[in-house]
Amino acid sequence: MVDADQTFVIVGGGLAGAKAAETLRAEGFTGRVILICDERDHPYERPPLSKGYLLGKEERDSVFVHEPAWYARNDIELHLGETVDAIDREAKTVRFGEDGTLVRYDKLLLATGAEPRRLDIPGTDLAGVHHLRRLAHAERLKGVLASLGRDNGHLVIAGAGWIGLEVAAAAREYGAEVTVVHRDQTPLNSVLGPELGQLFADLHRDHGVRFHFGATLTEITGQDGMVLPGLAAALACGLVVGIANWALIRGFAMPPIIATLSSSLVFQSVAIAYGRGLRISPPDGFAAFTTWQVAGVPMMAVAGFVLAAIMAVVLQRTIYGRSVLAVGQNPRAAHLAGVKVERTRFLTYALSGGFAGLAGALMAGYFGGASLDMGKDYLLNSIAVVVIGGTSVAGGRANLPGLWGASLFLFLLVTMLNALGTGTGLRLVLTGLIIIAVIVAAGGEKTR
Ligand SMILES: Cc1cc2nc3c(=O)[nH]c(=O)nc-3n(C[C@H](O)[C@H](O)[C@H](O)COP(=O)(O)OP(=O)(O)OC[C@H]3O[C@@H](n4cnc5c(N)ncnc54)[C@H](O)[C@@H]3O)c2cc1C
Repeated sequence: MVDADQTFVIVGGGLAGAKAAETLRAEGFTGRVILICDERDHPYERPPLSKGYLLGKEERDSVFVHEPAWYARNDIELHLGETVDAIDREAKTVRFGEDGTLVRYDKLLLATGAEPRRLDIPGTDLAGVHHLRRLAHAERLKGVLASLGRDNGHLVIAGAGWIGLEVAAAAREYGAEVTVVHRDQTPLNSVLGPELGQLFADLHRDHGVRFHFGATLTEITGQDGMVLPGLAAALACGLVVGIANWALIRGFAMPPIIATLSSSLVFQSVAIAYGRGLRISPPDGFAAFTTWQVAGVPMMAVAGFVLAAIMAVVLQRTIYGRSVLAVGQNPRAAHLAGVKVERTRFLTYALSGGFAGLAGALMAGYFGGASLDMGKDYLLNSIAVVVIGGTSVAGGRANLPGLWGASLFLFLLVTMLNALGTGTGLRLVLTGLIIIAVIVAAGGEKTR
């Protein structure tokens, strides 16, 4: 039983953070233990990322410090995928997450590890340039090494430290050509000295690794060519899902809510079965684009605003837009008035799927990789924004400026609740209650 009087907050979910949580419980700490980490994966160990896991010899599960259920069993409150961006030592609070949740602590442990040194040269954000620190990086690199091995490709590694040499060995094992560029005259010079370093250089040369010693990279040239095909693929996936939903509704006369819920279950199961938790980091340039701010306003908000403005014009000023509203109000009347009901529905499901695909790609860029539950937090919020914004959930009435007003209202509400120290649970209950209240106030929509 947790004693809520004492709170120990741990920032960072690496080995240090997870082991600190374990030790607290092992030593009999009975207060709240809150572990906050900006990575979405449960705490894991990094050494296998350049060794057995990269070689495909260790399973994904083997890298985790504890199995996921361990945290619940030991009353460790996990906040994954959330960044701590402020600490107030006077008030003893940390702020984390997109909505600025505040939590009070009695003791705070910063176990935030270290970041790889980035090269300050042109071209580091091009497609084909990788860093290795996170599980997602290792997952991506694994695929890259496998395809380099298959296609007789060439990997250049900057730095002959432990991780550089381990990746060189792994890449050779996959069958790729490998060249290592290192600024000293021997590998691992600063840790092992020249004689032992030479031994490692010879060992790797025997396995086909080429070295350039006393050299530094000054520029990386190439094209960031995969971002557009990637976006096109996300758009295409979304379109296919949207069209499949339409086909289910049309072909089997299924109620839309059932059709979309069941197809989402099918697509998620396919992703779990074939993706096996694979999480691919976005190219650095694309990630930077999604987190970019224009005069302090996040680019994602600007993109949402522009899209909403375009869709407002489409809905009000085009035949398609008016057909959507007419079909929403009364499909039979729309049909009698000459609207091509099925064509309108087809286009709308396809567009909605396409937008969802694009939104998913942008969010994957923003969060540093896609994950299946990435949109979970937005489900209730998007319904709330639609309802509060004055768009009819039963169809036939759209209010795009209202969406923006409702988004701002919800944002303010969440910020206010956070400032009052309200937890996520109460916040969700309040959002649900607001939706119910707005629907009731709107007179039960079309049920009349
Ligand atoms: C590929 C690779 C191979 C390695 N191999 C070996 C090896 O063979 N032997 C060895 O001894 N060491 C090895 N290391 C080093 C070893 O992994 C690190 O020393 C170890 O991970 C440090 O653990 P940590 O818990 O202190 O920090 P980390 O593992 O770095 O974890 C810190 C966590 O805190 C998160 N974080 C940071 N800032 C915030 C914030 N503001 N809010 C929320 N979360 C935040 C980070 O994203 C990260 O998830 C290797 C490292 C790598 C990358």
